[in-house]
Amino acid sequence: MSEFDAIIVGSGPNGLAAAVTLARAGLSVRVYERNATIGGGSRTAELTLPGFHHDICSAVHPMALASGFFRRFRLQDRIDLVVPELSYGHPLDGGRAGLAYRDIERTADHLGVDGPAWKSLMGPLVRRDDEVAQFTGSRLLQLPRHPLTALKFGLRALEQGLPTWNLRFREDVAPAMFSGVAAHSILPMPSLSTAGVMLSLGSHAHARGWPVPIGGSQAIVEAMAVDLRAHGGEIVLDTEVTDLDELPNSTAVLLDVSARALARMAGDRLPRLYAKQLERFRFGNAVAKVDFALSGPVPWANEELRRAGTLHLGGTRAEIQAAESDVAAGRHSANPYVLVAQPSIADPGRAPGTGHTLWTYTHVPRDSALDQTEAITRQIERFAPGFRDVILASSSLTARQMENHNPNYVGGDISSGQASFAQLLARPVLSPDPWRTPLAGLYLCSSSTPPGPGVHGLSGYYAARSALRHEFGIAAAPSLAP
Ligand SMILES: Cc1cc2nc3c(=O)[nH]c(=O)nc-3n(C[C@H](O)[C@H](O)[C@H](O)COP(=O)(O)OP(=O)(O)OC[C@H]3O[C@@H](n4cnc5c(N)ncnc54)[C@H](O)[C@@H]3O)c2cc1C
Repeated sequence: MSEFDAIIVGSGPNGLAAAVTLARAGLSVRVYERNATIGGGSRTAELTLPGFHHDICSAVHPMALASGFFRRFRLQDRIDLVVPELSYGHPLDGGRAGLAYRDIERTADHLGVDGPAWKSLMGPLVRRDDEVAQFTGSRLLQLPRHPLTALKFGLRALEQGLPTWNLRFREDVAPAMFSGVAAHSILPMPSLSTAGVMLSLGSHAHARGWPVPIGGSQAIVEAMAVDLRAHGGEIVLDTEVTDLDELPNSTAVLLDVSARALARMAGDRLPRLYAKQLERFRFGNAVAKVDFALSGPVPWANEELRRAGTLHLGGTRAEIQAAESDVAAGRHSANPYVLVAQPSIADPGRAPGTGHTLWTYTHVPRDSALDQTEAITRQIERFAPGFRDVILASSSLTARQMENHNPNYVGGDISSGQASFAQLLARPVLSPDPWRTPLAGLYLCSSSTPPGPGVHGLSGYYAARSALRHEFGIAAAPSLAP
């Protein structure tokens, strides 16, 4: 007799999405979490000074509005999401900047001679952003529900994923903007995968914006935990599961852990072929993070950037391409790509008085133990002279510390498995149901499964739907609405 219908290991956004979906189907659910707090990559804490609330991992949430799971869950009705008017900014030397507004017309106006090229690249996707979200939020190998949108997306990914990527642009701002978003994928550019990441995030930037939650990313997972508990689910904290045998009896087990941890926890119970496929799943390069407590806003040379929720630093397309190539070759770039979020411009409660929080990370070779505080500070100073004068305190996490902090981020790979095109197809294995393992009742539900990294809850949702079908004979999707 099973003690629980379903056990979830890990309370990241995917673990909680799985738990909520199963509990909403009327099942008894227990979640185990190794940390003292829930949330995995969606947590907020006072990392620097009292009263300064920093997002430990994710900070900006394009998928909070776009993901099929969060739309069913109606996250927008449960927490306050603020959408900055300027989705992302891209400073260049001499006070110039690329400015991606929620409004594509306004964005194109700022791009001058390249405005029409930007509109023809992004416009057809922005107009069908729901379909783009549906396509990029599912398994790549399935027949697209909206073939025309998939075709438009695919043709653009080919153009911007190959050496043809400069043909459409005449100046340097638009290509820099494209590359700044494409670099989120932590892969050398151009590639199909980097272009796909840009086209999907870039489309959301103009269609819905890139929101930040009031109170920090923790608000997202707290809303999920409230719903889970309201439907009878329970969460056990401070409990690391190292072997499946440690778990109480249940009909289904869903693991919000990396593909590598799945192999470790299941050991030689896994069929050899499947275990070999997991072994071949590659972890990518990494992130080193620095959070700053500031006495005032960042003094960006281009004042418009003070209103951007997110910024991509590193300079021109060629410079960002070189920085990402360095990382791919196992080197720390002397001119690194830096991702910056300014959550407190949208949510002033993140810092006391006139203070601000600044969230930053840079890409580094996997397992790097180098503190990147100085490298990131220097890159921000390049575009915001006087930045050092507003720093009150900082807190740094190296790539190696990232894995200690959360074992899903192997070597500091925050995608829990390289998000290359091949590994988006086979994540972690090539299968019509990659969430279901060959062991009876065992599922993987982390971002080591489709659709890959990001706070979207979709990996958990798909794994739960598969478990509902196969273990409980429930084909209908439960309602997730409040
Ligand atoms: C620095 C950083 C910045 C990011 N920025 C963004 C961003 O701005 N926007 C965005 O959308 N995404 C961002 N991401 C990515 C996003 O956070 C992840 O893709 C997402 O959190 C993955 O969700 P998950 O549930 O699969 O795993 P996780 O969020 O990693 O959660 C896994 C959970 O499982 C627990 N766990 C693991 N092993 C065990 C075990 N053996 N026993 C018990 N518990 C266990 C962990 O403690 C953790 O709580 C960022 C990630 C990082 C690290």
